[in-house]
Amino acid sequence: MSQMLRGLMQDDFPLTLDHLRRRLGSCNEGAEVVTLNPDATSVCRASHAEVSQRIDRLARALGTLGIQQGDRVGTFAWNNQRHFELYFAVPCIGAVLHTLNVRLFQEQLTYIVNHAEDRVIFVDDSLVPLLAKLAPTFNTVERYVVMGEMQGEEADELPNALPYEQLLERAQANPDDAFEYPQLDERQAASLCYTSGTTGNPKGVLYSHRSISLHSTVTLSKDGTGLSRADRILAVVPMFHVNAWGLPYGAALAGADLILPDRHLQPEPLAGLIERERPTLMGCVPTIFQGLLSYAEAHPGLDLSSLTNAACGGSAVPRRLMKDFEERHDVRIFQAWGMTETSPVATYSRPRERTPGGGTREHDDDYWDERATQGRPLPWVELRLAGDDGGEVPWDGTATGEIEVRGPWVASRYFADSSEDEKFATGWLRTGDIAAVDERGNVRITDRSKDVIKSGGEWISSVELENELMSHPDVVEAAVIAKPDERWSERPLCCVVLREHAGADAPALVEHLRGRVAKWWLPDEFAFVSEIPKTSVGKFDKKLLRARLAEGKLEGRVPVS
Ligand code: AMP
Repeated sequence: MSQMLRGLMQDDFPLTLDHLRRRLGSCNEGAEVVTLNPDATSVCRASHAEVSQRIDRLARALGTLGIQQGDRVGTFAWNNQRHFELYFAVPCIGAVLHTLNVRLFQEQLTYIVNHAEDRVIFVDDSLVPLLAKLAPTFNTVERYVVMGEMQGEEADELPNALPYEQLLERAQANPDDAFEYPQLDERQAASLCYTSGTTGNPKGVLYSHRSISLHSTVTLSKDGTGLSRADRILAVVPMFHVNAWGLPYGAALAGADLILPDRHLQPEPLAGLIERERPTLMGCVPTIFQGLLSYAEAHPGLDLSSLTNAACGGSAVPRRLMKDFEERHDVRIFQAWGMTETSPVATYSRPRERTPGGGTREHDDDYWDERATQGRPLPWVELRLAGDDGGEVPWDGTATGEIEVRGPWVASRYFADSSEDEKFATGWLRTGDIAAVDERGNVRITDRSKDVIKSGGEWISSVELENELMSHPDVVEAAVIAKPDERWSERPLCCVVLREHAGADAPALVEHLRGRVAKWWLPDEFAFVSEIPKTSVGKFDKKLLRARLAEGKLEGRVPVS
């Protein structure tokens, strides 16, 4: 009988965050972490080597707090250096970093802290008042560590609170007494992030050292985020949301500079930060880019020229947004798709820029059609489309089905919750996203399964209608929801935010859509709203729009006559 011949490589070398941590202190010379201060103009800087020393102290301090392997340590914090230190110290001692989304509803926060059984929570001083209200509802939290300048009374709002810097000072060791990190197994849990899930309570996604290590490695690939040692990365996407898309870990791995805006996510402080710190790469959701673009229009002369590459996702990225940035500011925004359950990046849209003959494609419609898709699966991610009957849907660019994915950074189940186990039952994750895939492997999301509009037995893609509406120069934002209809069962209702002093009205928008979408998709009603409500992670909150519609509270409704 033939026998497997085992390779003779160091296959037991573990893929753990400890490797990334070691790089901070050993081979990232010259790289820095920059945090925007509370005044929104000055910054705080530290080299990777300095940060690495503080991580050692923090790791030691976690031990003094009694944190052991497998324990959950919560963070309630914006994007800043201290949060970055926790990103390493907690997993590298074998504990689990639980990043709490500061924008969740209070009941959801109570639920996830208790469900995760967090023992300690590290909280930004600016967020203490918010957390203090909830502290009495937490069952397992023994202590809080307050990060920032807050002293005395205000911090005392939290029971058993300790200042972060004091904790680190106390853990200052004699320089010869290096902290001994434990040997870790790459399959060990490293961090935990809750997502809203499809039904019921939030669901915990428990990342392993291996999954984060592999995902971070791919952020360094040119077909993915494409970050390198030469970059200064502005991570605007919150560190409480899916590890900020892997940007902080990618920066550590590559030895790139990391620029963190703390709580300042509005266009003005971001624009100032870009002008002063000159990042080359930025990652955030489309709404932030949209805000920045409008701000730049109102402030001619704003210098965004350092940015060359930007990662955008979380919801569909309008083609016009990408084109405007590219034409007006020479910033190239590339779209990615993924979800909390996929760490998050699973596909990336980086079309070929050359034709086989050596010509350039960058101005071709075909190239832009590809740029506007969610892109191809990243290396190690496998993707298929499932039809209503469970059979596989062909990759022909037109037929749609639910995306199913598998790969080393895709969740295999939720943490201590079996209520949605059927999503994982086949070894592929059922994502709830509906898409078509073309022959080149480009995924084009047409809807979230819970957002699809079924009219006269046929599907209408809300995402496609939104994209077409947002390509109109007068439209700032558009979210399309299903409206119950006696004859057709459902019809699209387009909620639109118009630019200030815009001239467009409902008939003009229908005219704009005519010829761009099927005739029977044309909406018979609009709602001109002042703002599209957003979820805790900045996506259009269609659930809330549907609820407002059902309660008769949706403003600005205008039928198309
Ligand atoms: P979350 O787990 O909160 O990150 O949300 C994941 C969901 O966001 C996905 O299942 C998609 O519905 C949506 N999403 C993420 N990226 C994109 C994108 N580029 N285009 C359209 N939808 C996206």
